[in-house]
Amino acid sequence: MRILLIEDEKKTARSIRKGLVERGFTVDMCADGDSGLRQAMSQDYDGVVLDLMLPVRDGWSVISELRREGGHVPILVLTARDAVQDRVRGLELGADDYLVKPFAFSELFARIESMLRRGSTIRANLIRVGDLVIDESRHRATRAGIELELTAREFALLLLLARNAGHPLSRTLIAEKVWGLSFDTGTNVIDVHVRNLRSKVDDPFDTKLIRTLRGVGYVLSAGA
Ligand code: CA
Repeated sequence: MRILLIEDEKKTARSIRKGLVERGFTVDMCADGDSGLRQAMSQDYDGVVLDLMLPVRDGWSVISELRREGGHVPILVLTARDAVQDRVRGLELGADDYLVKPFAFSELFARIESMLRRGSTIRANLIRVGDLVIDESRHRATRAGIELELTAREFALLLLLARNAGHPLSRTLIAEKVWGLSFDTGTNVIDVHVRNLRSKVDDPFDTKLIRTLRGVGYVLSAGA
């Protein structure tokens, strides 16, 4: 098991590394957020232990960049602050667990081990339809690993279709769910948005996922 430790306090970093090595982990260390982020993206780690208050780039930015790049490595956040706000922000950005300093090393090791057993919780939020992957919590979508540049509305529309994959959705229902409004079904607003969505989700790819069902609405499915 390989752990990346991003911590600028030398004494703390050395103690954590010592303890982890004694438990059979391989540990790499970085003392600032920027080199930590680069290291995390360049190697495959089983887990990251991340201090929040770091020079150059803070821990929150490391988490959000890692998650934005699609990294699913489990992250345990260390924070000297016990403000609820900091912890909530770390977890919202995609950290898996946190520990407030000062902590007992035995607790840190127990947390790391249980985090590695669970794996990252981020994975659970992925919706897959064929080669389309929607990361709901990060508001990202990819096809065949290629990131789709979607507007917020297009993302909401795609998410709705994907959650109901294989089931046709009427224009009225789409209008209600995505726009929160009852559109006159005669309007072509939905069609325009679906067309825009298709230009990004389907046009560049051989397999089309979104189908129009005349007189019914739209359906997204892997075997269109
Ligand atoms: Ca620090």
